[in-house]
Amino acid sequence: MSSEQQPGVIVVDRGHPATRDGRGLARGIGVVLRHLRDAFGQRLERPEQTSGVFTVQYPEERTPLPEASRNLPILLFDDESGHELCTSCYQCERICPPQVIHITQARDPASGKAVPAIDEFILEYDACMSCGLCAEVCPFDAIKMDHAFELATATRDPLTVDRAGLARPVSYYAQLAPQAWAEAHDGAMKKLQGSRKRRTGTVGITPARAAAMTPASEPVSAAPAPASDDKAARLAAIRARNAAASDATPAPTDGAAPAPTSSGQAPASDDKAARLAAIRARNAARQREGGDS
Ligand code: SF4
Ligand code: SF4
Repeated sequence: MSSEQQPGVIVVDRGHPATRDGRGLARGIGVVLRHLRDAFGQRLERPEQTSGVFTVQYPEERTPLPEASRNLPILLFDDESGHELCTSCYQCERICPPQVIHITQARDPASGKAVPAIDEFILEYDACMSCGLCAEVCPFDAIKMDHAFELATATRDPLTVDRAGLARPVSYYAQLAPQAWAEAHDGAMKKLQGSRKRRTGTVGITPARAAAMTPASEPVSAAPAPASDDKAARLAAIRARNAAASDATPAPTDGAAPAPTSSGQAPASDDKAARLAAIRARNAARQREGGDS
């Protein structure tokens, strides 16, 4: 009985006669062999070659990362003026899922009024999950995701990074993500101009640049501060300023390390941890005041 007579049987037309005598199979094997040759038979010497086997001699050689790749956040400042783009709007702090961003807003030294700038910005890199939400939500293009990923350390301490450690010039980010920055540049710089009108002195200027601008600084101090003495001095200044600016409400400790004393004296060793505890205490007080009002 022929297949045409069987109900439910579909007769398949195998196409060109060449496929019926094995030449199709030979062509398929040819394709496989060509790919094998491409994969194992040639070594890639030129960057434009995109197929074949090659080994990246990491760390000496590196493949370029895509523009959108993200690892950990950084804070941008203007190359020319040193002014940070951040205005202390707290949006990144609020949206961060693991709550690893801690911000203190800057105040005008003369009037004591809050200004669109940061006094401190601490980020716990060891708990950041690189989600990039902070960079997405930032209306001032002040916080961006870095590509650097070699952050291994022997201890966790260096992974609590302060404002100075997070600072990167705008030109650095423009190199990382030229397309994204080209789109954001005009708006970000316009907003920075607006913020700068309300900043005085070194308020809002990235710490290394501000240190170079103060009369007490040494003549050649453009490079980032090398010594821990500098950190302790900055901490003492921050604490003194915060103590002067804060009201008489005693800061709650909420189980964390004790907040700084009103004397403004800084125990020089536990700088970042103490600053972090102080920021948390102040933020808790702020929230409590907001809830009371
Ligand atoms: S990348 Fe995500 S987890 Fe990390 S600081 Fe930003 S919002 Fe928080
Ligand atoms: S980094 Fe952006 S979102 Fe975060 S406080 Fe500064 S301006 Fe606001």
